[in-house]
Amino acid sequence: MARVAVIGGGISGLGTALLLGRRGHAVTLFEQDTRQAAKDPDGDFFDWHRPRVPQAVQPHSLLAPVRTVLLDEAPDVYADLLARGAREYHDFDWFDAHPPYRPGDEDLVTLRTRRIVLEAALTSAVRREPGVEVRRGLRVDALAFDSAPTPASAPTPTPAPDPDPDPAPTPAPGRDGVPRVIGVRVGTKTHRADLVVDTSGRRSPVPRWLTAAGCRPPVVESHRTGIAYLCRWYRLRPDGPRDPGRVKTGSTAAFALGGVFPSDNDTFAVSMVLATGDPSRGALTDPAVFEAAARRFPACAAWLDLDPEPCSDVLAMAGLDNRWTSLADDAGPVVTGLINAGDSIVHTNPTFGHGVALGLLAARQVALHADEIAADPAGYHAWTVQALRPWFDTQVTSDRTSGLRLADSAPLSDRRAAALAACAFDDPVVMRARAQARHLVCPPKDAYGTDEIERHLTAWLADRPDFEPRYDGPTREQWDALLPA
Ligand SMILES: Cc1cc2nc3c(=O)[nH]c(=O)nc-3n(C[C@H](O)[C@H](O)[C@H](O)COP(=O)(O)OP(=O)(O)OC[C@H]3O[C@@H](n4cnc5c(N)ncnc54)[C@H](O)[C@@H]3O)c2cc1C
Repeated sequence: MARVAVIGGGISGLGTALLLGRRGHAVTLFEQDTRQAAKDPDGDFFDWHRPRVPQAVQPHSLLAPVRTVLLDEAPDVYADLLARGAREYHDFDWFDAHPPYRPGDEDLVTLRTRRIVLEAALTSAVRREPGVEVRRGLRVDALAFDSAPTPASAPTPTPAPDPDPDPAPTPAPGRDGVPRVIGVRVGTKTHRADLVVDTSGRRSPVPRWLTAAGCRPPVVESHRTGIAYLCRWYRLRPDGPRDPGRVKTGSTAAFALGGVFPSDNDTFAVSMVLATGDPSRGALTDPAVFEAAARRFPACAAWLDLDPEPCSDVLAMAGLDNRWTSLADDAGPVVTGLINAGDSIVHTNPTFGHGVALGLLAARQVALHADEIAADPAGYHAWTVQALRPWFDTQVTSDRTSGLRLADSAPLSDRRAAALAACAFDDPVVMRARAQARHLVCPPKDAYGTDEIERHLTAWLADRPDFEPRYDGPTREQWDALLPA
């Protein structure tokens, strides 16, 4: 059984620590924040200032792997998540009746909840886990490397007085000349571990630490998304209307997306996405302007018509990129004894909502193979390329078109793609393909690229010969008219 140190106690760190602990490993998790998610989701969600985790207050929908990993590995946590108010939504719930299931259909479920509710359920489970020690309020400052063995013939250096009682050793080439991490440094202390897992998030300092220590540099691929997110949270009133009717949760304009995230405990978020350079971005942080603009999207209007109580300001987030950080290059791992998971390895433009699912898939992989990974991380790196990387590539490809489209207010031109998107809401067979691509079951080209889908799409279009792609959101003129002069 491995001794594992986990850097960062977000969703990925908590999930990794929990699943490792349940498989008998001895885990120490270091989280720099002193506060933890507790029993009160509203207090934790709305009053916890978390500048290092700004995405925590943005709306999340949790894709199928989140549910399946938890059901397989920690069913008690899944039950707790539902008890705390998370809700299941099957992609077939759109239809009056579910079609006959095919194998795998039962898993096409989104969890509708604020991220804090999952954090609270994981935090509570980790606290109960005897093999996991959580050290809060402790920031990992550096990695500890295996020190160079002193050759027998080398002269013994005269020890110099050192104010640091436990200095960081200089990395030495380990097996195959690759440095080995043997723990983490917190202040002046070294915490030793057989394996260190970096789950410190999208601003992970680990690549910088490795390069500074003289390792071969991690391979980083980064693409700016050029997209900004704005959201506002609401709560349905206990005595107010609760049913928005059958309305899609997303709407589009040439220059913006508008959507609704139904969540736990009667909360929901209205969210808008637009190009970072859009001139209306600043004005939209005014709640009145935001709400007037949101009402121009059918999805948002239907929910705002329920007269909900606003519970937050307009919360904005930008500076997003799609980034892949591999701790292996063409020659193999650049370091041993250390891997990354969660946003530290891959984070993507959140329009597809991949982040938490990819984090928990990696957590499970680490827990299942911790001993082998501690001995040699090459297999883990190969797994990330095979299991996680395709979703990064999918997002990058999609953003190339959609990012440009929002920035340029381009008309919809791909009739087939628009027809597939619309047809899914009429035809369960196409909805299944959409759900499989959305929930990371298979890439879109495989989900949609079958003869069956082609037949269904052709039949749907035959019934609608005049179908033309169109936006259901506002025109630019309508939008600009909402903005203060
Ligand atoms: C606008 C937006 C919307 C999103 N929507 C969705 C969605 O709908 N569905 C979805 O699945 N995902 C979504 N995501 C992505 C999702 O939020 C992330 O993938 C997820 O939060 C990453 O969790 P993490 O644990 O890997 O990293 P983080 O949550 O960033 O956690 C990292 C933790 O490490 C700690 N830390 C950092 N450095 C140190 C250190 N040196 N020592 C100790 N602790 C340290 C930090 O304090 C933090 O707690 C969205 C993201 C954004 C930006």
